[in-house]
Amino acid sequence: MSRVYNFSAGPAVLPEEVLREAADEMRDYRGCGMSVMEMSHRSKVYDTIIKEAEADLRELMNIPDNYKVLFLQGGASQQFAAIPMNLMKNRKAGYIVTGQWAKKAFQEAKMYGEAVELASSADETFSYIPDCSDLDIPDDLDYVYICENNTIYGTKFKELPNTKGHLLVSDVSSCFLSEPVDVTKYGVIYGGVQKNIGPAGVVIVIIREDLISDDVLPGTPTMLKYKTQADADSLYNTPPCYGIYICGKVFKWIKNMGGLEAMKKHNEEKAKILYDFLDESKLFKGTVRKEDRSLMNVPFVTGDADLDAKFVAEAKAAGFENLKGHRTVGGMRASIYNAMPKEGVEALVAFMKKFEQENA
Ligand SMILES: *Cc1c(COP(=O)(O)O)cnc(C)c1O
Repeated sequence: MSRVYNFSAGPAVLPEEVLREAADEMRDYRGCGMSVMEMSHRSKVYDTIIKEAEADLRELMNIPDNYKVLFLQGGASQQFAAIPMNLMKNRKAGYIVTGQWAKKAFQEAKMYGEAVELASSADETFSYIPDCSDLDIPDDLDYVYICENNTIYGTKFKELPNTKGHLLVSDVSSCFLSEPVDVTKYGVIYGGVQKNIGPAGVVIVIIREDLISDDVLPGTPTMLKYKTQADADSLYNTPPCYGIYICGKVFKWIKNMGGLEAMKKHNEEKAKILYDFLDESKLFKGTVRKEDRSLMNVPFVTGDADLDAKFVAEAKAAGFENLKGHRTVGGMRASIYNAMPKEGVEALVAFMKKFEQENA
């Protein structure tokens, strides 16, 4: 068996220790004679798995008691609808459009009320984060929405927008657990786990309790009401049991690594290796304004589409997978999530140096 360095944007690399542990427990979970995939979500064994996962996540993110943690299905995209359905009491919300995912959420919200574009970086192909320190924010907005790390374009909000007292809702799919966060600054933090936490099929929603109520838009499906899910502790119906179990293992892995402070340091070190090289390279260059660079997703180009394709093909042959940029932007993108080891980034940079010499 040989494992590649997997730079996929998602589903993405998971810690090898977690995969090994899951493999060991695959057919017989800790002596209960069955796989986690095969057991009732109402069983005592599973109850411990989901409760421990929640407790570990709470500890890692320092989630206050007045926030609920929900493990749901439907991916991040389902939340594009669930958020307005649950939170758009005045039928008006503000969106900061910093990439495709934010744009999709913005467009979805328009189906439920007035969605106002508060700022956008579409003018420069989403290669930067707009200044959000003093936006013109209408008083009657129900919330301000951001996509905190833009997976496709490789930008990250280094400072949260000044919402002028409005509720902040944030999609953190691709930066979840990559660094410490102050949960109290948000009304809702949510993300699909397949970027940085676990297998596709789970979305985690962290929501302030006072935002959970029966006062939702008419026609909101029972399953999409946060109250339904919160009242049932994420067990209203069958949850994505196996996915949650893997997430729980990843939470423990992060705790063992030293928690989110340590994760941030690890991620900064890795990103620096790649960005430093991009800054000095004569062939490759990063596509994002420096101060807005993501620690997780690093897009870069040579400036020549044929050479980009050659690079991606040769990299693949050398064991560096999934470096092709998103189909809408071209070039390359290295996603270097929590589970990407530092050696993976070092090896990639060594390969890029060699490619640069050969193609000078
Ligand atoms: C991948 C991604 C999504 C979409 O996630 P799905 O789970 O496929 O719906 C949304 N937002 C961000 C920031 C993403 O990276």
